[in-house]
Amino acid sequence: MNYDIYDTWYQRRLQIVSELPRLYCCEAGKLHVAADIFDSKPSWYMGSKSHVHHPEGFKQHYYVLVKYCPFCGRATPAFKINPQPPPKVRSCADGNYCDTCNDRVDGCMCSAPISAFDAV
Ligand SMILES: [Zn+2]
Ligand SMILES: [Zn+2]
Repeated sequence: MNYDIYDTWYQRRLQIVSELPRLYCCEAGKLHVAADIFDSKPSWYMGSKSHVHHPEGFKQHYYVLVKYCPFCGRATPAFKINPQPPPKVRSCADGNYCDTCNDRVDGCMCSAPISAFDAV
């Protein structure tokens, strides 16, 4: 097994995560509230946006959009365009292939679309 490839993959995953906008109101909010794009709009959410396989067979998202930090009660900040976005941000119009790197979107290592935004 080639561990170097896995190390590189892991380092890139950490980098992608480090580019995501985060809350700055409190430590718990920074850790547990995430940002992503919902219906073409950047939003703050808690939970899991990926499909979770339910034991009864259906797939389910477990997340809720938040307008206030559930830990300190402060309003979540608005978003602005990131003045220094990562060089390669994923863009996927058809849901299958990334338009930035042409790789399948499942294997694409481009930065997350939300990293084109920053918290105000
Ligand atoms: Zn907070
Ligand atoms: Zn890509």
